Amino acid sequence: MRKISAHLILDGLGNSYHKGILSVDESGRIIDILDTKGQLNESAEVEFYSGVIVPGFVNVHCHLELSHLMNAFPEGAGMIPFLKKVVKSRANEPERIVLSAEKADLMMFKEGIVAVGDISNETSTFELKSKSRIDYFTFIEILGFNPDRAASAFEKAVTNLKSAENHGLKASIVPHASYSVSTQLFDAISSEALKTGSPISFHSQESIEEDELYLKGSGELINLFRDVLGIDTSFFKPTGEGALQSTLKYFPEQSNLLLIHNLNTKQSDIEYISSVRKLRNTWFGLCPGSNLFIQNKLPDIELFRKNHLQICLGTDSLVSNHQLSILAEMKILQKAYPSISLDEILSWATYHGANALSINDWAGSIEVGKRPGINLLTSLDITGKKLLPGTKVKKLC
Ligand SMILES: [Zn+2]
Repeated sequence: MRKISAHLILDGLGNSYHKGILSVDESGRIIDILDTKGQLNESAEVEFYSGVIVPGFVNVHCHLELSHLMNAFPEGAGMIPFLKKVVKSRANEPERIVLSAEKADLMMFKEGIVAVGDISNETSTFELKSKSRIDYFTFIEILGFNPDRAASAFEKAVTNLKSAENHGLKASIVPHASYSVSTQLFDAISSEALKTGSPISFHSQESIEEDELYLKGSGELINLFRDVLGIDTSFFKPTGEGALQSTLKYFPEQSNLLLIHNLNTKQSDIEYISSVRKLRNTWFGLCPGSNLFIQNKLPDIELFRKNHLQICLGTDSLVSNHQLSILAEMKILQKAYPSISLDEILSWATYHGANALSINDWAGSIEVGKRPGINLLTSLDITGKKLLPGTKVKKLC
């Protein structure tokens, strides 16, 4: 049994304990939280740290298998040039993919991340994820704009899902984005989700071009498919509605839904979402570092807060970020929105993420009975409860 204390403990639920003491067993399970109300007597049996103790971080969105493409693309290129490059660079030597993914996994572990929602199009990272000290949920992602590809793409996903399960990984089959999945493929994914009750993660409203595709059937996305990827796009009929409005109907109402990016989400979109499904099982995964990297833009976070949406945080991949660190994402948000409290940003980085990945029985908050991982934040403004550019995270257990 360890007794751990610091200047401040933030539990991820909005509560704070000044010089509180956590009793933690060998497995990292919290046995007791003692509120000393700041009156901590020096004691040999208490490990005291200078800084702030917070729960382990939850990263709801990553692509571990793309880690080998770190530093491959320039910043600020915009969404369509970025997509063009990713599509062209996916194939690579398998050893390099695994080696880079292992390094990325270790980077996240050292950054105090305890759980990850990770997108996989291939199976190359399954082995390392099954052995990692991080808890992974694997979203087996499908792309297939042309309906002719629906059957084979879905078949491949089912094979990959079996492989994930054989590795002992929790996994589900999910669509990539509104603009890269045909209605036939959406239908297949939807039936599968309905059958298994498994969660869905989906890249949503990351680019304005996806709306143009659905509204008018024109724009840079369809040009990309037709002219660069050589896909026959003649079958595609615009719906006359936005991308979100055209595709959200494919997700079963009872499935947990994790919408990723939401960079261009407006009030009318939120009203649409709440008209077709419960906001209770809908999460909004924000990846601010990636949004800045690709488009130099951040989502309208005040809009999400005003509507009481469940915000959680993701790093996205090393293709569009400099590091895989939830702390770095928190710093970006605090800098852009200085009036939002650290307690609230922390709840996005921990508690809401754990709910989104359905691991709230053990992760996401410092509560008796959980083993959420204990992180120490150092070099921050403790009294003002503010992260500083030099704030670092250290895993205590
Ligand atoms: Zn992504």
